[in-house]
Amino acid sequence: KPFEVHVQGRSLACFQPELTEAEWEALQAHAAQAREHMAGRTVWNVNSTARGGGVAEMLPRMLAYARGAGVDTRWMVVQGTPAFFRITKRLHHALHGSRGDGSPLGPAERACYDEVLRDNAEELLVLVRPGDVVLLHDPQTAGLAPTLASAGARVVWRCHIGCDTPDEEVERAWAFLAPGLVAARLAVFSRASYVPPLLADRSVVIPPSIDIFAVKNQPMAPEVASAILGHTGLVALAPESPAPVFTRTDGVPAHVSRGVDIVRLGSAPAPGSPLVVQVSRWDPLKDPVGVLRGFSLLLRDSPGLCADLILAGPSVASVADDPEAAATLENVIAVWREQPRFLRQRVHLASLPMVDPEENAAIVNALQRHAAVVVQKSLREGFGLTITEAMWKARPVVASAVGGLQDQVRHEVDGLLVRDPAALPEFAAALRRLLEEPVLAARLGTEAHEHVRLHYTAVRHLKDLVALLEQLDA
Ligand code: UDP
Repeated sequence: KPFEVHVQGRSLACFQPELTEAEWEALQAHAAQAREHMAGRTVWNVNSTARGGGVAEMLPRMLAYARGAGVDTRWMVVQGTPAFFRITKRLHHALHGSRGDGSPLGPAERACYDEVLRDNAEELLVLVRPGDVVLLHDPQTAGLAPTLASAGARVVWRCHIGCDTPDEEVERAWAFLAPGLVAARLAVFSRASYVPPLLADRSVVIPPSIDIFAVKNQPMAPEVASAILGHTGLVALAPESPAPVFTRTDGVPAHVSRGVDIVRLGSAPAPGSPLVVQVSRWDPLKDPVGVLRGFSLLLRDSPGLCADLILAGPSVASVADDPEAAATLENVIAVWREQPRFLRQRVHLASLPMVDPEENAAIVNALQRHAAVVVQKSLREGFGLTITEAMWKARPVVASAVGGLQDQVRHEVDGLLVRDPAALPEFAAALRRLLEEPVLAARLGTEAHEHVRLHYTAVRHLKDLVALLEQLDA
């Protein structure tokens, strides 16, 4: 059965101090348009996990603002069997042009996928009324489209992944998803190059966004970031006094209390050592092993260089729709064990508890702010929220030139892109530059913040979503 995640509305007024008079008026006009389009109707969002990953990160934030703008918006999470999530993870890899575990996508998989979604659709039909808008997110929910559309809902499928150079894996995924997608009125992609021929006549491009007021991105003084990292043991700092160290969404101050479930390998980084950080789900496409090997190469080639690497991700049990996480983390640990001792002391793996999502967000915020360099060395990436989060914090970033990362980071302007995601020497060289050239690092960081302010906040995203509602009504 699908379950609902309740999200409190949040007034758009918080944006006013961040915007010019004209921008603020435009935002209010968009809100009024959205209310008009949706009067008496509901916008439903349906995905497959309440926690972990970019979609679960973004949905509650956008929902809060939509509700704050007076649009009835709700979020349902479908549930599935382990077999269902193996199939959808396989589809996720395939849409990225990757073989994943290479398992088939044949009639047996189709039957399993359809059966799980049929059960979920039955429950959704009780709630969704004719004229409502249903935004189905990613392959996990695409198969719901025909049932919901035949009940009179206006169905939009939003795909958060994609591949710039479609291959036969991508084709296979589209063939699997096509029977569901024919029922979608519109599809939303993060980049134009992700739009398949099948949906070419009814696709729009809307890149994701970050919420600059979320706990993950809220302003945080360097001492506070250090105090959080000291508390959790992520960095070898004396734990500071238990003063409030972050502000919850409801405005209540809180401090990070729980010890972090660090996969403790080696000691914590020394306080003064510059940190290279990647925050990601434990997914082979995020290439945590590549980050580790690239960093090792850097230290081997530059014996005098002082730096530590932290690879952080959610605790492996916490991401409901990602069955691969545990094996991926185990593989990273195995590679770590192969490294010589001096490298093992400089590479740290942390799986962060997700029990309290706001505490997790505060830890990620602190890590990104404390980092000397934030990396996203993905082999494929639809759109990497993590890199935009770091850029908002004016961090210098190194990202692979794949997928959405190529839009998010402009090479040499607001970060560094590594052309070949598999090229470790190029990755190591980019890291070295940012660690050794503080003027360059600071310049890229300043530009990065401005680029995010202009293109990747909820203000731009809401505007695009209102245009989508308009197109549905046209
Ligand atoms: N994230 C987190 N805790 C973690 C790892 C990741 O909060 O331990 C968040 C991260 O900050 C980002 C999101 O999960 O907001 C990941 O989104 P992204 O688009 O980078 O990748 P996805 O997981 O969607 O492939």
